[in-house]
Amino acid sequence: MKILKIMFVMLIMVTLVTIFFSCRKSENGSKAPKEPNMPEAATIEKVQTLCPVEGGKIDKSVYADYQGKRIYFCCADCIAKFNDDQAKFTKQMEEKGVVLANTPQ
Ligand SMILES: [Zn+2]
Repeated sequence: MKILKIMFVMLIMVTLVTIFFSCRKSENGSKAPKEPNMPEAATIEKVQTLCPVEGGKIDKSVYADYQGKRIYFCCADCIAKFNDDQAKFTKQMEEKGVVLANTPQ
């Protein structure tokens, strides 16, 4: 009877170990395809959609050119505010991952 008990316990342990490793395997399997996409998602280029000054939706007819980049605004008032501190607003957009359009040649 003792041997049967030991064998039973061992069988359970083997089963648990098998489940444990198969779980880990499938976990890694599902992770693997995600990982190559991670850097891509992080470097995805965001076009400017919001006014850097007031955060409103941009009007494509209201813009200013700064260091070869075209920056769009929600209204003409924001261009004046932008011109007060162009470097600050440009940096803020960069930090948000916004990629500014090049000034058309
Ligand atoms: Zn505005």
